[in-house]
Amino acid sequence: MARVHRETPPTQNHKHGSIAIPMKCNDCEGKGKTDCADCEGTGTLDLDCDKCIGEGTIRESGMTLRCPECNGEGRISEDCPECDGEGQKDCEACGGSGEE
Ligand SMILES: [Zn+2]
Ligand SMILES: [Zn+2]
Ligand SMILES: [Zn+2]
Repeated sequence: MARVHRETPPTQNHKHGSIAIPMKCNDCEGKGKTDCADCEGTGTLDLDCDKCIGEGTIRESGMTLRCPECNGEGRISEDCPECDGEGQKDCEACGGSGEE
């Protein structure tokens, strides 16, 4: 049988009751994607706010004000650059095919 290797990860396998069951990749459990390690699958990174350096407040004219950049949270969320905010990356073990 011919196995066609495709670059794109399989979305749905339409073969029902097929005799050929490809070996699933252990790393991604056949999904072809793994959780991004950088953002732990969330797709966003929590970073200390640059403006208030994580304090949540800024000082202005002797007054302490809530930081407008982070709304007083001290943290800001950014799209993870490693996975473009998707939270998932192509599995390195199987190159995104989901099969071994
Ligand atoms: Zn990520
Ligand atoms: Zn801030
Ligand atoms: Zn894999």
